[in-house]
Amino acid sequence: MSRSVVITGSTSGIGLGIARAFAASGDNVIINGFGDRDEIEAIRASLDAQGSGTILYHPADMTKPIDIEHMILTARDRFGGVDVLINNAGIQHVAKIEEFPPEKWDQLIAILLSSAFHTMRHAIPLMKSQGKGRIINIASAHGLVASPFKSAYVAAKHGIMGLTKTAALELARDAITVNAICPGFVLTPLVEKQIPDQAREKGISEAEVKDEVLLRLQATKEFVAVEEVAEAAIYLASDAARSITGTHISIDGGWTAQ
Ligand code: NAD
Repeated sequence: MSRSVVITGSTSGIGLGIARAFAASGDNVIINGFGDRDEIEAIRASLDAQGSGTILYHPADMTKPIDIEHMILTARDRFGGVDVLINNAGIQHVAKIEEFPPEKWDQLIAILLSSAFHTMRHAIPLMKSQGKGRIINIASAHGLVASPFKSAYVAAKHGIMGLTKTAALELARDAITVNAICPGFVLTPLVEKQIPDQAREKGISEAEVKDEVLLRLQATKEFVAVEEVAEAAIYLASDAARSITGTHISIDGGWTAQ
C-alpha cells in the first residue's frame, strides 16, 4: 500500500532526490519548497509519472508555523495521514559571528530547526493514531562537528540532533522511529552557491575551493551523491529499520572519523 510521505524542501537537491526515491517506490508524496511555478509543476508531474502514488506540491514556507500546519493537514486530508515525515528544507549563510546578520540567524534557525518541531508536533498525533510512523531529519556532518563562519547552521544542526534523540525517546513505545541522516558535502545548489563566494574571498579558483576547502575533511575526496542520502532515507523508513531510533547515519566520506 502507498505510504503518505511529506518531504520539506524537496523542489531541489537532496529533498528532490529523496522525493524521487519514494515516488519510485509507489508512495504518495507531498513535495515542498520554493522555485519557479512552472518548474515546480514540471518536477511534480515527472515524480507523479514515476510510480503509482500521487504527488502533490505544497508551498508552505518553513519559517511560518501556520503554513506548516496546513501542509501536514493536507497530507491527512488527501493521503489519510503521515507515515513518513522528512525534515530537509535548508539554507546556508556564511559569516563571522560578529558580522552575522541577526535576521539571517533567525531565518536559519527557523528553517533548519524550528520547522522540524512544527512538522513533528502536527504529524505525531496522526502517526500515533495510525500506530506507526517514521521521522527522518536531514541533519549534516555539521550536526556532529563545527566549521568556522557557519554559526547558525552548525547550531541548528546540533539542535536537530538533540530534537531527534528527544523525540525518539518520547515515541519509542509508539512504533514511531526518529533518526537523522548526516551527509557530508553533496554537490547541490546549496553548496554550489558557496563556491564563487569562497573563491572570491580566499583569492583561489573554484576548483581549489572544491578540493581544498569543501572536500578538505572529506577523506574520500569525493562529493556524496544525492541518491546515497535518498537510499538511506528509504532504509530508515522501512520495516527492517524498526529498532533504529534516536540515532544518525553518517554519509560523509570519512569526514567525522577524524
Ligand atoms: P538545496 O538548496 O538544493 O535545497 C533546499 C530546499 O529547501 C529547496 O527545495 C528550497 O526551496 C527549500 N527551502 C529553502 N527555504 C525554504 C523555506 N523557507 N520553506 C520551504 N522550503 C525552503 O539544498 P540541499 O543541499 O539539498 O539541502 C537540503 C538539506 O540537506 C538541508 O537541510 C541541508 O542543510 C542538508 N545538507 C546538505 C548538504 C550538502 O552538502 N548539500 C550536506 C549536509 C546536509
